[in-house]
Amino acid sequence: MVEISLKDLTKSFDDELVIDSLDLTIKPGELVALLGPSGCGKTTTLKIISGLLVPDAGDILFDQESVLSVSAETRGAVLVFQEYLLFPHMNVADNIGFGLKMRGESKENIHKRVTELLELVSLTGYEEDYPHELSGGQRQRIALARSLAINPQVLLLDEPLSNLDANLREEMQNLIRNLHVEENMTTIFVTHDRDEAMLMADRIAVMNEGQIEQYGKPEKLYKKPETKFVADFFGKTNYIKGRIEAGKFHFMNSYLSVSNEVTTFNIEEYEGKTIEAMIRPEFIEFITNDYEEKQDKKLYLSGTISERRFVGERVFYQIDIGEQILRVTTLPQFSLSIGDEVNMKINLENIWFME
Ligand code: ATP
Repeated sequence: MVEISLKDLTKSFDDELVIDSLDLTIKPGELVALLGPSGCGKTTTLKIISGLLVPDAGDILFDQESVLSVSAETRGAVLVFQEYLLFPHMNVADNIGFGLKMRGESKENIHKRVTELLELVSLTGYEEDYPHELSGGQRQRIALARSLAINPQVLLLDEPLSNLDANLREEMQNLIRNLHVEENMTTIFVTHDRDEAMLMADRIAVMNEGQIEQYGKPEKLYKKPETKFVADFFGKTNYIKGRIEAGKFHFMNSYLSVSNEVTTFNIEEYEGKTIEAMIRPEFIEFITNDYEEKQDKKLYLSGTISERRFVGERVFYQIDIGEQILRVTTLPQFSLSIGDEVNMKINLENIWFME
């Protein structure tokens, strides 16, 4: 299994900087998602790793060795694009075995590998079928199998699931995870769908304007984002502004003790200054009676429901707390209506303080 390191990568098209001093290391056998908005440089990064594009500056290392001078064909990385194209005049077995045939492998070896791959993608028995006889999902699985035939060490997937309906998408997500494990590949996939990135990836690299904004485990990015860009990319959230006094965060008539574990910065340097608390809507709890005994590990707020949207398994509320509107998401167990007064609490471990 290969470790991939990108060092200070830079790439421009027509004087427009698209990849800007990008650094990223993917551990051997890891499945990493490159997540970011359209045009941030995800596909360009994959093409550079695969060898299809040459960076203007910087280096790409596979297991600590530069592959800059290694051609795309011999780099051991295969790039699978969104559009899975199969040869229409070849049957499934010939499509999958194509790369091996080009390499001059024996018929026996090709047959063995094709059989193995068809089993991996759960399409045993389809050897003789032609692409037009298959469903869209089956064609995608065959195309994936074809990409894997030559035993790539690195699998690069560019928005592999974006054209699929929800059911097929889930099936392919599982398939890609399984293939990644069974074939011992270091895998990078590009997506602009945060749920997909969280579901599939060991770690996510969030990209913005040609740079990595933050790189880490899905839960960390969601709960402890280093920038607002990352916080907002992972869903709608609340920011409330308060002052730090004697190490405590003061907001309206409530306060909280703040330690460095829940901040992006050193709290001592922020004495007397205003900071923002980032609170995800689902971490705000309604409390039915008046304030419970106050503790400085919880923030207590009260307000009036100004909007309520029922979407089945969840209810989205907007709560007017005087200074601002808070978003709150709950399970549908409360019978609350617009205009109702509510008390709320938030546990310190569910608050993340940002500059
Ligand atoms: P998307 O999610 O929309 O595919 P992306 O994050 O993958 O976006 P890239 O395809 O890497 O983004 O493109 C980044 C920027 O580089 C875009 O502004 C794009 O127009 C530009 N770009 C990409 N390839 C070329 C090229 N061959 N020539 C000129 N500009 C290009």
